Amino acid sequence: MEAIKNVLSVPQGKEPELAILEPKKPSVDDSGYECANCKDEGIIFDPDRNVAFDCACVERKRIQRVLKSSNISEEFIDKTFETFETRDVDPRVVEAYELVKEYSDTLVARVKKGHGLKGVPWLGVLGKTGAGKTHLVTAAVVPLVELGVYPVFFNWVSGFKEMMAYHAADQGHVVDEIRQRLCTCELLIVDDVCKESQKDTWITEFYGIVDYRYRKGLPIIYTSEYFTELIGFLSEATAGRMFERAMSPKGKPYLAKMFLRKDEDQIMLNYRLRGLIS
Ligand SMILES: [Zn+2]
Repeated sequence: MEAIKNVLSVPQGKEPELAILEPKKPSVDDSGYECANCKDEGIIFDPDRNVAFDCACVERKRIQRVLKSSNISEEFIDKTFETFETRDVDPRVVEAYELVKEYSDTLVARVKKGHGLKGVPWLGVLGKTGAGKTHLVTAAVVPLVELGVYPVFFNWVSGFKEMMAYHAADQGHVVDEIRQRLCTCELLIVDDVCKESQKDTWITEFYGIVDYRYRKGLPIIYTSEYFTELIGFLSEATAGRMFERAMSPKGKPYLAKMFLRKDEDQIMLNYRLRGLIS
């Protein structure tokens, strides 16, 4: 939300901060170094053996840089499959975890063979707020980042608000730049589709992105707290493309669904509240 505030308070004629396009600055600890082991040299010298070796932080920093420039917020960098809790959770959450893991493994295997992501199925992670959708999606993407894939992470609410703020500020070239990146990036992640607002301008913009990527065979990973409602919100053309593409080559839907029945306690699937419910 900070980025939007920046945009709205920008004096006319001044370039607003490109939160979507520019990487965030790395965090620095008390010592003033990001890595105390190598003092940010990237190399550690061992005087006893008279050898120098690469510090472990080099690869870690590379991955963090990519994640940050992908607009994946720092708090999600540790969200891996290993840190996703699958004990004592609803079987639907476990099922979703397994499906997303399988999807991720399939893409990882493909990238390892030297194939790009063009033509791979899309993935939808759908369910109640707090079920762990963003965690699962980040977990799916991190192993790909480790292999050199550059994803772009776009949050429905803050992303579109920011885009429309540039539009309102007559920064059409920035809107074009963002749109271009959302359309053509190797892997697009759209988080919380249709959350809070389904403004016509957002729906139209989103259709353009979905249709472009559909035609070019470029994958989208999306999350939403809605499923069939998406058809009503987005139109059959947009939602239809999203569901059609979320299918394995063998015809298995890559739609991880974590929904409650109407007669169930609505708090049950809330991942963050899980510890409070016994
Ligand atoms: Zn280091």
